Amino acid sequence: MVSLDERQIAAYAEHLKTSGTAKAFDFCAPSEGFLYPERHQPGVLETFFFSCSHQFGFWTLNSARWNKPMIARLDGRDLKGSDFMFRACTRAWQRNPRVFFPDTLATMGNAQLSDVFRDDDGANPLPMWAEHLALIHGYAQWFVSRNLEPADVLRRAAADSKPLYALLTVLAEVPGYAEDPLQKKAMLLAIVLENRPEHFLKVTDPESAVPIIDYHLQRSALRAGLVRVVDPTLRAKLEARQLLSAGEEFAIRSATYEAIAAIMAQAELSAAAVDWFFFQNRTRCPETSDPKCPECPVQAICAKETRLFQPVFRTTAY
Ligand code: SF4
Repeated sequence: MVSLDERQIAAYAEHLKTSGTAKAFDFCAPSEGFLYPERHQPGVLETFFFSCSHQFGFWTLNSARWNKPMIARLDGRDLKGSDFMFRACTRAWQRNPRVFFPDTLATMGNAQLSDVFRDDDGANPLPMWAEHLALIHGYAQWFVSRNLEPADVLRRAAADSKPLYALLTVLAEVPGYAEDPLQKKAMLLAIVLENRPEHFLKVTDPESAVPIIDYHLQRSALRAGLVRVVDPTLRAKLEARQLLSAGEEFAIRSATYEAIAAIMAQAELSAAAVDWFFFQNRTRCPETSDPKCPECPVQAICAKETRLFQPVFRTTAY
């Protein structure tokens, strides 16, 4: 259904290596105290352990077609899904620094958990709330039943000769992280812990890093021509933003994973740096309006497949 375009992969690797535009983000400035918790405070670690596991599903479906991104007003600002999630969690943490400790989560009822995500109109706007709720219960239970805290998981990983590998291995068992064989949210948490000002995780095994494949990155890979769509039926579905089958989604996501892994290796860049480059690309190459190709830093090498769209597929992985 799809194939990798090695020439495009090499061109992007060269661009990222030489342009200096791929740098790791610190998940703090300039949104410290709004999207992200203030540095060096109690409960920050636990807040990110929780919030990263809920980075999924921020869009709505209408008659088997992608409808629109989730945008909701919180504390006076209209926030897209990922930003909404981070702000809602930071707000809850600012009210109670222990709110995301598993033993606290385990005592909260469903209504109380839903209140964490109330927007300025009093609604919980998360399109996949039922899935979020099930994962919160599983996550709290996993830690409480083992008498563990996120800090224990981090301490054990840090003591390992391969801290990143050890962290990803444990997260592969934790509800909220365990469901995705490509470990997108687990690797997101790892780069947050590594790059936050607190440097919670000291990575001595960068070779253990895996690509972080969400829907923005898949859209970018398709439009950039890193991943070519060979099957005309699949191409038509992507252009029409129709719901895909699990097999179609897997073909695109796994090819994107391979393409980004190849870029990381050829450009000798971290997963964090490559992820931040493509995450910023979501505003230049958006979902709801025409891409701004003339202003785009990769317009000279991009395939400009602007009609292609990310897989429309319900998952808790991204
Ligand atoms: S904005 Fe245009 S040039 Fe830039 S990534 Fe999107 S399709 Fe490519």
